[in-house]
Amino acid sequence: MELSEYKDIYVFAEQREGKLQSVALELLGKARELADATGEKVVAMLLGKNIKHIAADLIAHGADRVLAVDNDLLEHYMTEPYTQAITQIIGEFKPAIMLIGATTIGRDLGPRVSARNRTGLTADATKLEISDDDAHEFRMTRPAFGGNLMATILCKNHRPQMSTVRPGVMQKLQADASRQGEVIDYAVDFDRTKIDRVRLLKTVKEEKATADISEAKVLVSGGRGVGNKEGFEKLEALARELGGEVASSRAMVDAGVMEPSRQVGQTGKTVRPALYMACGISGAIQHLAGMEESELIIAINKDKYAPIFSVADLGIVGDLHKIVPLLTERLKSIQR
Ligand SMILES: Cc1cc2nc3c(=O)[nH]c(=O)nc-3n(C[C@H](O)[C@H](O)[C@H](O)COP(=O)(O)OP(=O)(O)OC[C@H]3O[C@@H](n4cnc5c(N)ncnc54)[C@H](O)[C@@H]3O)c2cc1C
Repeated sequence: MELSEYKDIYVFAEQREGKLQSVALELLGKARELADATGEKVVAMLLGKNIKHIAADLIAHGADRVLAVDNDLLEHYMTEPYTQAITQIIGEFKPAIMLIGATTIGRDLGPRVSARNRTGLTADATKLEISDDDAHEFRMTRPAFGGNLMATILCKNHRPQMSTVRPGVMQKLQADASRQGEVIDYAVDFDRTKIDRVRLLKTVKEEKATADISEAKVLVSGGRGVGNKEGFEKLEALARELGGEVASSRAMVDAGVMEPSRQVGQTGKTVRPALYMACGISGAIQHLAGMEESELIIAINKDKYAPIFSVADLGIVGDLHKIVPLLTERLKSIQR
């Protein structure tokens, strides 16, 4: 493999039913920053059916070029046709770096593409940088050993250097409609014999009863100190007053009190709300990994030595079961 032939930063522009997933724009924001450091281009790979209308949005958010692969076989996500399309792109364009959102689709696609192209993949990276020396080394950092240490991973001998990144970790750029870019219609030569082994019979959509905590501006989050469902009702009342959502530490998800979609942290979601209220959460490193970038953190804990206070902007030492209802009442009276 001649490494010097590989250039530019490619982003998988994940769309579902023609709707771009916000992680794609977040990755474009990061890719733009990395590409500006090396003088390379940002290329978005847009796969699907009737998806070209999305291309302008990708350019407005930082792409220099969009490779649009419009094909019936790509209408619904399936591992094999998507892997074939990206593998052909890798073979022809030789990307230096490839970023994929760590969504359910990205977590399926990323490893398959990396294995087929005999390269490495750093899953769930939380930091991506290019070294500022002449080597322009691509450094992918992610939590390792249960989150107790951050590992920086290099992919020195293979290309592309691949990474998945969870939604909410990187920041998208402001859309700039005046940005210029080119859109290339790219045709893929599919090998139907492999694709036809799997057929999509029916898509059953999960009922989405709960809100997406990674989109909420205010989160009132509870941990073991909240105790049970009744405890969380107090947090829900506060969240309603603040126009926010309730989230949880893993302890309460493991206890079956909260649903997994509301878990914040290394094995849950990464959130970056304007306000994160941590109630009865000790602040284990795996929890902090998912919320420490929040703009304002308020912690309520009865233990003044709890590690959560080290990341909190404001700390309240006391019993959350008393403090949360008092806060809720006070907010109600202000709004009356
Ligand atoms: C590989 C791995 C991945 C993990 N991923 C995650 C993850 O994604 N997210 C996550 O959250 N954890 C994760 N964990 C678990 C993590 O290590 C902690 O065990 C967990 O975060 C603890 O949850 P907690 O803070 O709710 O509970 P605890 O650590 O038990 O803390 C409870 C806190 O509540 C306080 N408290 C008790 N009663 C009250 C009260 N009445 N008023 C006020 N404060 C009170 C206590 O002082 C204490 O600080 C992971 C662990 C591993 C090993």
